Amino acid sequence: MSDSGFPVVRDVDRVRRLVALPDVRPAMLDKLAGATVAMVGMGGLGCASAPYLAAAGVGRLVLIDPGRVAPTDLGRQILYGAADVGALKVDAAAARLRAQSPGLSIVRHAVALGVDSADTLLGGATVVVDGLDDGRMRDVLNAWAVRGGAPVVFGGALGYEGQVTVVPPGGRPCLACLFGSVADAPAECSVAGVLGPLVGVVGSLQAGEALKWILGVGQALTGRLWLVDLFTGAARVVPVPVRATCPVCGGAEAI
Ligand SMILES: [Zn+2]
Repeated sequence: MSDSGFPVVRDVDRVRRLVALPDVRPAMLDKLAGATVAMVGMGGLGCASAPYLAAAGVGRLVLIDPGRVAPTDLGRQILYGAADVGALKVDAAAARLRAQSPGLSIVRHAVALGVDSADTLLGGATVVVDGLDDGRMRDVLNAWAVRGGAPVVFGGALGYEGQVTVVPPGGRPCLACLFGSVADAPAECSVAGVLGPLVGVVGSLQAGEALKWILGVGQALTGRLWLVDLFTGAARVVPVPVRATCPVCGGAEAI
């Protein structure tokens, strides 16, 4: 027991179930401890993925979001409570994540991602997790991934339908191979609505993809798109081919 009367939680106990996986060896935990995951957006997707990344032993999280907690966030952004309304999301999230994982290093940026700031905000990231609800910024993030920054785990959740794919450094295929420009995507959660647990499902899968990439285990969702429809309960994975005329990653000419 600690002086506070609470049991002492050792890092080795925290990840005992992780290293029980047949392809995860204890030495691989150093990869997690040395990893930096940049969270672009701390809405529903970020709130779901960040705690799993912290709990698994990721050493450093970079939280990027200019927003403040609103009452309309509380139905699905589960890192925040009523007392957080009005607070910067990066501050409220950091407090919760530090309570969960005291050894975690957290960097907070209460700014939006931009073309000019992407290298500064995301530089040094081992993996980037997309928690955006804005097509224009998603285009910026995709372009950054194609420039070779780091893998980006993209996620989307709208209505009952969610999707996840991983764009590797250099792209090919990138998000524009799949959707073209996503800047003009018409719908947002604020307009179309979203089933709260859907962002948990998608965010959790994004955390899983990030952990797999860092550890070097499993099959990454590169070149593939995972789709789920919580209305019917159906899920499937479809291939994402490189688009020969993709204006962002260069498509077939770049291969
Ligand atoms: Zn492309």
